Amino acid sequence: MGSRKKPHIALFPSFGTGHLIPFLEFAKRMAVDHGFTVTFITTPSLHSSAETTLMQGLVSSGSDISLLEFPPLPQAEEEAAPPQSAETFLIGRFQTIENCKGPVKDVLGILKGDVCAFVTDLFCTAMVEVSASLHIPVNIDDPVDIPGLPAMPVRYFPEPMQTRADTICHLFLRHSHRLCNADGILINTFHDLESGALRALLHRKRELLPEGVETGPEIYPIGPLIRSPEVEPGKSGCLEWLDRQPASVIFVAFGSGGFLAAEQARELALGLEDSGLRFLWVVRTPPGLSLSGFLPPGFETRTNSRGLVWSSWAPQTAVLSHPSTGGFVSHCGWNSVLESVSCGVPLIAWPLVADQKTSAFCLVNEIGVALEPAWRPNWWVGKEEVARVTREMIDGEGGRKVRRKALQLKQAAAKAVAVGGTSTELLSALAAQWKNGN
Ligand code: UDP
Repeated sequence: MGSRKKPHIALFPSFGTGHLIPFLEFAKRMAVDHGFTVTFITTPSLHSSAETTLMQGLVSSGSDISLLEFPPLPQAEEEAAPPQSAETFLIGRFQTIENCKGPVKDVLGILKGDVCAFVTDLFCTAMVEVSASLHIPVNIDDPVDIPGLPAMPVRYFPEPMQTRADTICHLFLRHSHRLCNADGILINTFHDLESGALRALLHRKRELLPEGVETGPEIYPIGPLIRSPEVEPGKSGCLEWLDRQPASVIFVAFGSGGFLAAEQARELALGLEDSGLRFLWVVRTPPGLSLSGFLPPGFETRTNSRGLVWSSWAPQTAVLSHPSTGGFVSHCGWNSVLESVSCGVPLIAWPLVADQKTSAFCLVNEIGVALEPAWRPNWWVGKEEVARVTREMIDGEGGRKVRRKALQLKQAAAKAVAVGGTSTELLSALAAQWKNGN
């Protein structure tokens, strides 16, 4: 690499907005703070038009970031039929990622010689083989294991991992094995948030590696990589509403696509009503159901003096950093968790699927920054319990404890990404390594 030429990295995020957002933040840091040229490799087969728009937003921001889109692939057989379940949906998506190997290899082949590193994520371990064949170092930014945690009941494992016979369980295990062959793993976390798991990954790596893998990947906790509240365009109506509220508003949101079953949503609504608390609820309805068919009759009218039901996109990081927000009923998607702790807001853990249950368990039992409702069978929460746990958050001893922890973590997160912080230093070291061609 010529000494005056900017170093260049290629990124290949997998499907889903929650996977893309940290990649966008990572790209910004590498381009703006470390002088890299960044190329996003994308395809409509994997990334929705909304996701492509998010990437294009960065491209037009003036930094040295560009998109390289390859055309849609012929649809994988598994994806042609409408998915019957979350499992068949994932199998289809994983197959599409496997099918991307050829085009990604072609693109990297063109960029080869110019690109000093290729970064992809947990679901794209197929790409480790591609970049290895081109001798490009590959980094993957997701955790791979959970040692260093308190004993975790199996019900908190991602659903497919609860049964060894499950096809998805095997796919996940294959991903985990292949992760061990990556050169490095970028993890969107910081030391004070996940000290147990990080200690295990950093210091017990040898014993955690599968047979035949000698050194294993370097571990880089470089987070929190989160969207800053300032990037939200304009002033949303829900922020104007928050401006008019005193402190202690309960914020309820289940991520970019998550929704509750209608009966559970009604129970949540009635519990919020009974709690007497102020609340801002970002509601997503299941396909085919309108808001009026989803909420209990008259709910919005009865609660509109102290509650807001918001059915469009909410500026979540701005809501969490608003002084009136006193607690976050969250599905525990990892971006939401990082955003909440970075803003010093304690959580009420209400996971829906996948790794959210694992994260919820750690937030409650290891980190101590979340309260958990008393679950009935099948992760059902009754309205009395909704009222109890939200009041406990605002007025109870449990709430005081998790709030104290959240405020500590807010400081620790800010320190990690400040000049001289652990995450900043690691990222700088990595940038220097890539610039030197290592
Ligand atoms: N988000 C938002 N407004 C919304 C819904 C979601 O800003 O109305 C953002 C949220 O701040 C987070 C991301 O979308 O950055 C959701 O990611 P997360 O990992 O929490 O959950 P997922 O959507 O992947 O389930």
